[in-house]
Amino acid sequence: MNMNANKACHYINGKLVCSAGGRIGKVYNPSTGEQIYEVDLASAQEADQAVKAASQAFEGWAKLTVTRRIEILHKFRQLLDQSRKELAEVICMENGKTYSDALAEIARSLEAVDFAYHAPHLLKGEYSMQVGGDIDVYSIRQPIGVVIGIGPFNFPVMGPISTTTFAMICGNTVVWKASEKVPKSSLYLADLWTKAGLPDGVLNVIQGDKEAVDALIRHPLTAGVHFVGSTRVAEYVYGEAAKQHKRVVAFGGGKNHMVIMPDADMDQSVNAFLGAAYGSASQRCMAVSVAVLVGEKTAKAFCEKLIPQVKTLKVGPWNSESDYGALISREAKENVERAIERAVEQGARVLVDGRGLKVPGHENGFYLGPTLLDQVTTDMDIYKEEVFGPVRVILQVDSMEQAIKLINEHEYGNGVCLFTRDGYTAKKFSEAVQIGMVGINVGIPVPVGYHNFGGWKRSKFGDGYGSGPENVRFFTKLKTISQRFPEPEFVSRADFDFPSN
Ligand code: NAD
Repeated sequence: MNMNANKACHYINGKLVCSAGGRIGKVYNPSTGEQIYEVDLASAQEADQAVKAASQAFEGWAKLTVTRRIEILHKFRQLLDQSRKELAEVICMENGKTYSDALAEIARSLEAVDFAYHAPHLLKGEYSMQVGGDIDVYSIRQPIGVVIGIGPFNFPVMGPISTTTFAMICGNTVVWKASEKVPKSSLYLADLWTKAGLPDGVLNVIQGDKEAVDALIRHPLTAGVHFVGSTRVAEYVYGEAAKQHKRVVAFGGGKNHMVIMPDADMDQSVNAFLGAAYGSASQRCMAVSVAVLVGEKTAKAFCEKLIPQVKTLKVGPWNSESDYGALISREAKENVERAIERAVEQGARVLVDGRGLKVPGHENGFYLGPTLLDQVTTDMDIYKEEVFGPVRVILQVDSMEQAIKLINEHEYGNGVCLFTRDGYTAKKFSEAVQIGMVGINVGIPVPVGYHNFGGWKRSKFGDGYGSGPENVRFFTKLKTISQRFPEPEFVSRADFDFPSN
């Protein structure tokens, strides 16, 4: 693709399309704080152009055999695999995460691609013979049409791949609305798809913000909406799409607890907390936000090991040997700093203070050092709200039942984990928590690509999953056909009773 170095444009019908004179956003390299390029912010007309391209491509794509679609997928997978290093740099430049974290994101994306190879099996319908006189019944799954995908900034590659790949393999065509903060990663993927042989119009990328989202959701030719982002916007998108009678699922934010029992392996728990809590500058919907320590002895042992290690975490640019990188924007950094100040005003104690961190040579980067608070209560904003940055909190409770109660009373329900050596405790916990994804001695329980991803409560609106076999239900419509091809001697007669057998 002839990428415009100074601007991230749209990708419509197999071509880069740059707006002339429309609204423009700025994209920054979070590691340095410098603006690296501009991004087109689509108007309703540009959104319409992308939807029309997807709509025109739909019939041909849906009719193509699934085997042919898999051939294109296979080629795309090869190209993605070969592009890991270059693509990881694109992710890092726009997002600020470390190079190793970007490579790990691509590895997980490949897993999502691998799962799409199972589409032929999952698309198989069901067949019942002779349910009535010469009547057979069968069901088929058909694509829903033009699907809109809308993504967040924190997974510039895994976001679009998870949403669009399975949708396309099921026979849908797609308009992907990339996050305006990380627009080029999506263009890079669109280019790989074209090189793999994807017909024009099957995948279109629109850059933009609310204006584009609203136009796409309300467009009469779009059939489904798959959103990933903050809870505030997820709830809005879900409501708007449902009003338009679209099939919709909207994934939102999280506030994920890690419960540490007195019998847990303390080193394992502390290491898991460090990675899950601060990795990616805590900009993950499945990041651990709250350590819930069961009993005073556990709290003491955990904090004694944890605090010195939090203080020595390395923060730096994407291409350094750091544990995590910069936040996505100056505004995001200031929001997290304000959340810390508010927590202190409300009575929290700062155990480790990451504010004011300066990374030598990168003084304008959007860095925030690791911050840890205790004496946090459940009525404080810092406990109630998702804070998308490296401030984490510690709570102490007396029993697992108390831990479960506070987790279940929290409005979010994305992920949770428990650290214990006891199988019965783990079983009781897994059954009782009102959370979509549970880890037992696993810090970030994002299920592998062939299992279903999805939170509960205000972490997900609507029915649908982010990976796994349930995906096929979201991206297809089920049709049931009852058919009779009677024997030549069959004599029909009008029957006014409801058909029964
Ligand atoms: P965001 O909600 O600000 O933006 C997500 C998308 O919505 C972007 O494409 C953006 O352009 C668009 N958008 C923003 N405001 C809008 C509005 N008012 N109307 C319509 N569209 C709008 O989220 P973000 O900051 O990019 O990403 C971080 C959030 O995403 C966090 O809350 C994180 O927990 C969540 N997230 C959730 C999951 C999950 O699977 N549950 C995965 C990744 C990220």
